[in-house]
Amino acid sequence: MALIVQKYGGTSVGSIDRIRNVAGRMKRTRDEGNRVVAVVSAMSGVTDELIKLAKELCDNPSEREVDVLLATGEQQSIALVSIALQTLGVDSASITGGQAGIFTTGSHTRGRISNMDPSLMMKYLAEGKTLVVAGFQGTTLEGMVHTLGRGGSDLTAIAVAAALKADVCQILTDVDGVYTCDPRIVKNARKLPEISYDEMLEMASSGSKVMQSRSVEFAKKFGVIFEVRSSLNDNPGTLVLEEHPNMENVVIRGISIERSQARVTISGIPDQPGMSGRILGALAEAEINLDMIVSNISNEDRSKHSFTMHSTDLGKAQAALKPVLAELSKDAKIETEAGIAKLSAVGIGMRSHSGVAATMFKALGDKGINIGMISTSEIKIAVTVDEVHIEDAARAVHDAFGLDKEPV
Ligand code: ASP
Ligand code: MG
Repeated sequence: MALIVQKYGGTSVGSIDRIRNVAGRMKRTRDEGNRVVAVVSAMSGVTDELIKLAKELCDNPSEREVDVLLATGEQQSIALVSIALQTLGVDSASITGGQAGIFTTGSHTRGRISNMDPSLMMKYLAEGKTLVVAGFQGTTLEGMVHTLGRGGSDLTAIAVAAALKADVCQILTDVDGVYTCDPRIVKNARKLPEISYDEMLEMASSGSKVMQSRSVEFAKKFGVIFEVRSSLNDNPGTLVLEEHPNMENVVIRGISIERSQARVTISGIPDQPGMSGRILGALAEAEINLDMIVSNISNEDRSKHSFTMHSTDLGKAQAALKPVLAELSKDAKIETEAGIAKLSAVGIGMRSHSGVAATMFKALGDKGINIGMISTSEIKIAVTVDEVHIEDAARAVHDAFGLDKEPV
């Protein structure tokens, strides 16, 4: 008998009808001869609604209380799914994060899983029960409720699969799997049969948010193979796993895009030790997440630094930089540009193939699309372009690498 962990996101349990569907799907999986443990999110919109309620009382509610509050969202949905299962004649039990033995450390609202004690889940499974576990929550050793960060139910599912040594971990969601590019933009995008953990992480950090990145890292660390698939149909999804030699035959696995980026360029900084540290330090202190960072030295011993960030952070970045720049040099100049987007091509095959960047840049050049900044990692090449061109850019690069065709 296989043990299957199924994770259902907020949309999949978003209404009573959908909860009935989830219960039906779990029953079917069980009737096929499997043991089933579901991990579920709060019904869609509930977590946001709870945060809104707390903020009506105060701008900055205590994070301890926010954790207690948010954890109720998932408790609501596990109880409802379990009730739905019972109406179908399935012997089931709902289980909170604490009862599932998910122990956490770190601060409230950003708990990290430190340890798992799956004994209650094992006991119930041995009794033949089907389990419904609350995602996104755990408990500290002292018994305080912790949540795991937004989207944290994915992490719960991976951790539960690891602790129970599940045979299969399915992330059931409102997309069919991981695609070579967003199919709403690139019509001939293809669903990938498999993708490596590292590629999945690069795609996620570049805007393709199929899953919370932290849970992919956790899966990689504990070797949990999982499948991203639709909760609405039975089509096979995308398997996410450690890379294997055959995977390198494909140069680019996928293209991802991220809109609403902005660039800040600072010039006229003296070319001396400590300058980058001061500038980046000011941005870090303002809690601005930078993405690309490009620095160079121009003539006359002046350096120039460009960074990209989400455009909503632009104002905050300018405010944080002003005083530092005034201190560093009287010729320091700051320029900003919004309305840019990032296009990333990701694939572990890049490590063993040359000319990848050239192919990508030529494809963009042939379409008359200008490249702003460029950054690379071992398995990713990313460029910025004007946001108005991002969709054309994605199609051009997707075509250039023949991603619409089944690899041979
Ligand atoms: N309900 C939580 C959230 O909305 C956790 C999750 O959905 O994974 O972030
Ligand atoms: Mg969610």
